[in-house]
Amino acid sequence: MTFLSRSVLLVTLVTMSSAQAQTDPKIDQIINEGKYHSQVMNHLTYISKNIGPRLTGSPRLYKAQQWAVNKFKQLGLKNVHLEKWGEVPVGWDRAGLQVAKMVEPFESDMVFTMSAWSNGTKGIVKAEVVKAPETAEQLEKVKANLKGKWILFPGSAGGRGGFSSIPAEVSDAIDASGIAGRIYGSRNELVITSGSWTGKTYEAHPGVTRITVRKSDYDRLARNIDFGRHVVVAIGSEGTWYKGPIPQYNVVADIPGTEKPDEFVIVSGHYDSWNGPGSEGTCDNGTGSSTAIEAARILMKSGAKPKRTIRFILWSGEEQGIYGSSNYVKLHPELLPKISAVLVDDGGTGYQGGYDCIASQLPILDAAIAPVAKAFPDLPMKNRVHEKMPQGGGSDHAPFNRIGVPGFFTIESGDADYNFVHHTQFDNLEQARPNYLIQSATNHAVVSYTLANLPDLLPREAQKQ
Ligand SMILES: [Zn+2]
Repeated sequence: MTFLSRSVLLVTLVTMSSAQAQTDPKIDQIINEGKYHSQVMNHLTYISKNIGPRLTGSPRLYKAQQWAVNKFKQLGLKNVHLEKWGEVPVGWDRAGLQVAKMVEPFESDMVFTMSAWSNGTKGIVKAEVVKAPETAEQLEKVKANLKGKWILFPGSAGGRGGFSSIPAEVSDAIDASGIAGRIYGSRNELVITSGSWTGKTYEAHPGVTRITVRKSDYDRLARNIDFGRHVVVAIGSEGTWYKGPIPQYNVVADIPGTEKPDEFVIVSGHYDSWNGPGSEGTCDNGTGSSTAIEAARILMKSGAKPKRTIRFILWSGEEQGIYGSSNYVKLHPELLPKISAVLVDDGGTGYQGGYDCIASQLPILDAAIAPVAKAFPDLPMKNRVHEKMPQGGGSDHAPFNRIGVPGFFTIESGDADYNFVHHTQFDNLEQARPNYLIQSATNHAVVSYTLANLPDLLPREAQKQ
């Protein structure tokens, strides 16, 4: 090493240490805890494997919420409770038999799903498959022959894919003829679960069983029918109904602020999930729930004492219409002027690559993420400036942005394929990326702590009256 380079190094060291003197040393401690002592995968493993999918209104979601309450209490958070946002008219969960296979002309397993809050089979229903008549004339010819059969419908039962083009009166007449149920095909090898409690009660939940199988399974059934073969399937898809109305909750837990306890930074994600066969509700959104829980753990373990309250919220009812967060906004008009920011992690198992924000927020958010970007150099981060805060997008940031409280859906980054897991049979723990989630939880902790310690609330958009 030459003298010259040594003096350059010395200058650099002096500059760095004076810059560091301006940052809170607590940030280093938070990053150290988050990066090297992470428990985020422990939380996610419990949620995915010990509890499993968490449909809103189901006992499994309530069990998961109680587990989270206990976890937040163990971590030493305050004001830990379930906060009611509303109720669902009737509960439902997948339970019992979940099997589907072609048994004639040869045996072949099928991968399938059935919408939530829909009528399943009672036991295994083994019956012939016939194609649905598509016009009134076709219906007239085959009407007497539909009873007890599985009817193969063109198109998808819903979710991502087209809908059947069969006229409603033909479609209704098919159901009215005492069929075993409908079989739809997905547009690819992913089967998408959706569903709704609308119009259902414990006593009345009309509708025939509707199964969606993979495209390859659908094509196999259709091809064999076209070849004139006798095609038989055996399908058992069952669910349990729970008498409503059933109260529904968000999980709430606080690290109280030391100077401005009635001002808030919210760290959140939705805890509910779909529950199709194979799904553990891991990436949508066990991941965002686990990063929130882990951020709380990191901050408590680091002894962080934020000036404002950092409030952790695990929303529910997100999948059916963002109910948990929308109702939180409605139920708490008094809090809204005092919420600095709402961080929402709900984009799968990617890492937190930054925030979508408006220009006035950019320097603050750039400074907030800088130490995290430095600590995880392989996971680049960048905030993006927009003219307005995003009000669309189906997640829990949107209701806040609509009324002018800055809501941030973290920019989900990395190379994980969200489409592969989103509401599909592959939403399980094996798809989770530990290194991304360790970064996400650390970033949640650093950014929420930084924002909670700002002199002022984060700048927000002016609201039109
Ligand atoms: Zn979802």
